[in-house]
Amino acid sequence: IVSRDSHPAGSVVKVRGIGIGGPQIQVIAGPCSVETQEQMDIAADAVAAAGCRLMRGGAFKPRTSPYAFQGLGVTGLEYFQAAARRHKLPIVTELMDIRMLDTFMEYDVDVIQIGARNMQNFDLLKEVGRVNKPVILKRGLSGTISEWLMAAEYIAAGGNHNIIFCERGIRTFETAYRNVLDVTAIPVLKRETHLPVIVDPSHAGGKAWMVPALAQAAIAAGADGLLVEMHPNPCDAWCDADQALSPEELKKLMGTLGAIATAI
Ligand code: PEP
Ligand code: MN
Repeated sequence: IVSRDSHPAGSVVKVRGIGIGGPQIQVIAGPCSVETQEQMDIAADAVAAAGCRLMRGGAFKPRTSPYAFQGLGVTGLEYFQAAARRHKLPIVTELMDIRMLDTFMEYDVDVIQIGARNMQNFDLLKEVGRVNKPVILKRGLSGTISEWLMAAEYIAAGGNHNIIFCERGIRTFETAYRNVLDVTAIPVLKRETHLPVIVDPSHAGGKAWMVPALAQAAIAAGADGLLVEMHPNPCDAWCDADQALSPEELKKLMGTLGAIATAI
């Protein structure tokens, strides 16, 4: 179903009227995790002011350590919706557990994010395949392109064809950055599948100063959009502080993308 052969012209995934995979590139921005109502209100103002049309934020966080902040859970979904609604920003948030799917539907989450660590959580993929909500499917930490395509096929096979691939960097021997952004995956996926492809430069580089270069490279390579971490006060972020852009940095980055997108 996800193969390019079935839709040679490419398909557009619509999120409350906003097209991902169409002529316009879309940038989804927001903090790694939902922290407080005030943090989300300021973040939503900054996302809208920068010209981004969708917002991200994690309420359920997949943390390496069980002792690290795990997210606010349902309270986080409440803060997120309250903040995002003021600007009519559709919300993107990660689902880690099948048991929370009904809650995600109740809170009217607009885009379900499947994180890198769950790319091959087949039961989770089957469940999101049964709902009528767009899904961002992140690439696994060491996922190959064919494994990633098959993971998407699990979702599509259930009837949900609203899938967006998200390249977020893969494991590397290199220690100077968090992951290596696989720019090559962008044209390869665009050839293999009709579905939109976006890039998360934040989890790829792991440092805020790397984000603009990676984001620009992604758009130049044909990505349909970006998923970027931005925090009102990056230094104080409860999660992934090193890689969060400030509101000003996000706005500056946004100003550079249009020219790249039209040039290609
Ligand atoms: C995230 O986007 O917050 C996240 C945890 O990313 P990944 O699953 O790519 O590590
Ligand atoms: Mn993060």
